[in-house]
Amino acid sequence: MSSLSYVSPTSDSPWGTYLSQVDRVIPYLGPLARWAETLKRPKRALIVDIPIEMDDGTVRHYEGFRVQHNLSRGPGKGGVRYHPAVTLEEVMALSAWMTVKNAAVNLPYGGAKGGIRVDPKQLSMKELEKITRRYTSEIGLIIGPQQDIPAPDVNTNAQIMAWMMDTYSMNVGATATGVVTGKPVHLGGSLGRVKATGRGVFVTGREAARRIGLNLDGARIAVQGFGNVGSAAAELFAGAGAKIVAVQDHTGTIVNRNGLEMGSLMETLRRDGGVGNFTGADRTDTESFWDVDCDILIPAALEGVLTAERANRTKAKLVLEGANGPTLPTADDVLHDRGVLVVPDVICNAGGVTVSYFEWVQDFSSFFWSEDEINVRLDKIMVDALKKIWDTAERHKISLRTATFAVACERILMARQERGLYP
Ligand code: GLU
Repeated sequence: MSSLSYVSPTSDSPWGTYLSQVDRVIPYLGPLARWAETLKRPKRALIVDIPIEMDDGTVRHYEGFRVQHNLSRGPGKGGVRYHPAVTLEEVMALSAWMTVKNAAVNLPYGGAKGGIRVDPKQLSMKELEKITRRYTSEIGLIIGPQQDIPAPDVNTNAQIMAWMMDTYSMNVGATATGVVTGKPVHLGGSLGRVKATGRGVFVTGREAARRIGLNLDGARIAVQGFGNVGSAAAELFAGAGAKIVAVQDHTGTIVNRNGLEMGSLMETLRRDGGVGNFTGADRTDTESFWDVDCDILIPAALEGVLTAERANRTKAKLVLEGANGPTLPTADDVLHDRGVLVVPDVICNAGGVTVSYFEWVQDFSSFFWSEDEINVRLDKIMVDALKKIWDTAERHKISLRTATFAVACERILMARQERGLYP
């Protein structure tokens, strides 16, 4: 499957999934297909050892990664994930999806991603700060405002970005706000960044629903993962009249056919850090989530959750990929055969990196925009990008995923060709 010696992807693993997505787009690339192998290899991958002294005086070592998949269109860009299951192969796939995503919305970036193999819930604040600072220092070799710009991802947030910005700045001897995005607003962060990914899911979902004649008013939605992305998207859909009928997160699965009351659900989330103990719903087992009667399914947690078997069971007509890589290629085929429309991650969740781009631009010009300006510009970029992808899908009679890859890979490989091979 892979011609790289240092990973062993399977057909269901993240890098294996990504490779098969690339294979599906090659027939639509015309003469640019000559450069397609470039997409199947990360430009560079850095593996770092992160030793920290724990609060109890012991020393522990953690594995950290930063992968720059492609830099043809600009500096690397993509988040940093803290999760006990992080591997090099996973970070490679996530970095590659960033390349495609950034090109799909036409941001002047390549694609990158980072991660630390750690469960941050097991760390104290002090330990979290130490692991973040040491990791930042170690990847300092390859990051920078013009080289590669990290951002939040699963289990990372504005505080972690503030420590990353500070550590990098200390090492270079000058405050460099542009080295990371997703920072606190008073430290060069952007208004609207926290909810931007969820907002992008809403905007692309709204557009897709309109095109297939699905009325959002009264539409039933099931959301898997209720972190930054899932919860913000759910609030916006609820505001448009939709009913959030099921939510699943790491604390449990809750359902209410009449729609969950969003105000108190958000209150529970703030209080408990999860939805499991919400009283205005029934609790059900994890697997039943995929059988819930719904019109729209939003996987907004981790990759690989939508298997062919679950894809066969879902009642949804529309799948909005808030997460990166949630749908396996075999599930993609099942959904396609069943007439379920999938708005793929590489466009659906591109709202976050789009506002990251706004943040980076604001940092460089030291001139900050209003939240309204941010949201209006975000809306326009997402609507225009989806329109181009939709037209491409119709023209070639291909899925939205392959169409997004076609639009993005054409831009990436055109840049590759125009820059030429060095030396
Ligand atoms: N982690 C987010 C993503 O997967 C945002 C990345 C960024 O803002 O650079 O798209």
